[in-house]
Amino acid sequence: MGKNLYDKVFDLHAVRKLDSGQYQLLMGLHLVHEVTSPQAFAMLRERNLRVAYPERTFATCDHIIPTHNQLRPFKDDLAEQMLIELEKNCAEFGVRYLSPKSGEQGIVHVIGPELGLTQPGMTVCCGDSHTSTHGAFGAIAFGIGTTQVRDVLATQTLAMDKLKVRRIEVNGQLRPGVYAKDVVLYVIHQLGVQGGVGYAYEFGGDVFDRFSMEERMTVCNMSIEGGARCGYVNPDATTYEYLRGREFAPAGAAWERAVAYWDSIRSDADAHYDDVVRFRAEDIEPMVTWGITPAQSTAVNAPLPASESFPSQDRALIEEAYQYMGFKQSAPLKGQKIDVAFIGSCTNGRFSDFEEVAKYLQKSGKQVQAGVRALVVPGSQKVRERLIEAGYDKVFTAAGFEFREAGCSMCLAMNPDKLVGRELCASSSNRNFKGRQGSPTGRTLLMSPVMVAAAAVSGSVADAREVFAIQN
Ligand code: SF4
Repeated sequence: MGKNLYDKVFDLHAVRKLDSGQYQLLMGLHLVHEVTSPQAFAMLRERNLRVAYPERTFATCDHIIPTHNQLRPFKDDLAEQMLIELEKNCAEFGVRYLSPKSGEQGIVHVIGPELGLTQPGMTVCCGDSHTSTHGAFGAIAFGIGTTQVRDVLATQTLAMDKLKVRRIEVNGQLRPGVYAKDVVLYVIHQLGVQGGVGYAYEFGGDVFDRFSMEERMTVCNMSIEGGARCGYVNPDATTYEYLRGREFAPAGAAWERAVAYWDSIRSDADAHYDDVVRFRAEDIEPMVTWGITPAQSTAVNAPLPASESFPSQDRALIEEAYQYMGFKQSAPLKGQKIDVAFIGSCTNGRFSDFEEVAKYLQKSGKQVQAGVRALVVPGSQKVRERLIEAGYDKVFTAAGFEFREAGCSMCLAMNPDKLVGRELCASSSNRNFKGRQGSPTGRTLLMSPVMVAAAAVSGSVADAREVFAIQN
């Protein structure tokens, strides 16, 4: 029986098996940001250690950076201090810092692929859960904690358990108005937030094969929300086309060698999987979360689920979600008034996400409803630049959206972009946990960017297919 990509890449990067049963795994790329790195660098300093492979280590700032403007010093002293610390650490340890001044700053999971740093067959790590995004390229990519950031800085290796592999196939044809975000929310809804614990997810089948790299990134980004430490798509012509010519992608003879390696790490046709699940693309509708985990979601036109429809062990969490969100069981979610609309984050903050929304705003001429605060936050400076070049910044502002600077913004709200009180936010981000968007009582509804735009112009949760006349 053949091998899957995860096993091939893992085995190629395993330095040795440890007595604990874990493996020491070599990391091809280490991405660093301002929030989880200061302590790790401090620990290196205390032990008089250097960064082992500075040429494989890249830093940027994303979580704390304000998006109104990026002028220094920041009004928030703590944010300013964190950035000063990052700058100091990068300079002292010889790490390349993709700073706001460089024009290459952005959310770490947007800029890694954008610059061609993320490549097939790599091991990628970062002190951030959504590192799973980079698996879209056929890399094994996972989030790590601060102590592990220290370990990777000092040794370029990590102690890791080997995961099982579940292949998730979605075959058939998605309906118009159904996006990558809907697919991944549907998968998480079906398998649960714990369903992927102990697994790497391999996404395959017609739908993922046809997806662009940006759509694949949206899916892999949320693998972690389904409990899988990492998720990936096998590299193919779409992957190579995306990478060709990017700043850090191989060129010339090195490109040919790289492609030969990338081809070799694809899952074999007869690869072994610990589990295989299959879904039909035609069954997927635009999805909206209604609760406090990314699995608590529903098709936009369906009524909210009754708690009796869940197994008894899940009911306490369902009741807790209803209590927190203030929704009624069996009531429609469609029509629920929203206060804030946020389009951005490492899930849906790439050019094609905004382009799709701009296209519908332009065509429909619709405006953000009075009383709704609507933010468009590009995932990187390069994404922002491209949007401006295409004139989409004007489309967004004309429609009543604020067009901001690059950063994580309201995804985690470690910056001035926060919900206030019990505000309800239609969000293209990846987590709807209690208090996630900056207010301890704020509420988040996850959905695709086009669905966020539909909610913004309707003032309430809406079916984008109806709002923007997307033909079925
Ligand atoms: S956009 Fe959100 S999930 Fe992504 S890196 Fe930033 S805070 Fe984390």
